[in-house]
Amino acid sequence: MDIRAQCKECQGFASANKFKLHHGFKRMVCPNCFSGKTKKKEEEEKKSKKEKINKPKGWDAEDEYLDKMTKIKQEQVKSQFSRIPGTKQIQCKCLGCNYIFKYDPFRKKPNACPYCNRDIPKLTTFNLL
Ligand SMILES: [Zn+2]
Ligand SMILES: [Zn+2]
Repeated sequence: MDIRAQCKECQGFASANKFKLHHGFKRMVCPNCFSGKTKKKEEEEKKSKKEKINKPKGWDAEDEYLDKMTKIKQEQVKSQFSRIPGTKQIQCKCLGCNYIFKYDPFRKKPNACPYCNRDIPKLTTFNLL
């Protein structure tokens, strides 16, 4: 005869004769708890709950917004730099004072406007492609 007993650990039911003494739990537990299945399941549930908390609603929209801002910024940087016609050199137009000067994209110099000392965004060679 199969006697069902409730496991004190997971509140689940299992055949009473399958219960075993578990050293970690310090009591008789069902086969699931004994093999660690219950614990694993709980951990997985905790994990998935955590993930849900870490991803609040609307994070996609925010991501998109940041992406857009980055692109706009890149466009601004790009428009600030231009190739000097007929050469391989780059010129930069300061957004603060409109002063135009030569820019070295490989040494990333100068890093400030020679006229008004305004910071110049670093132009990567990638931006020039
Ligand atoms: Zn159990
Ligand atoms: Zn300037």
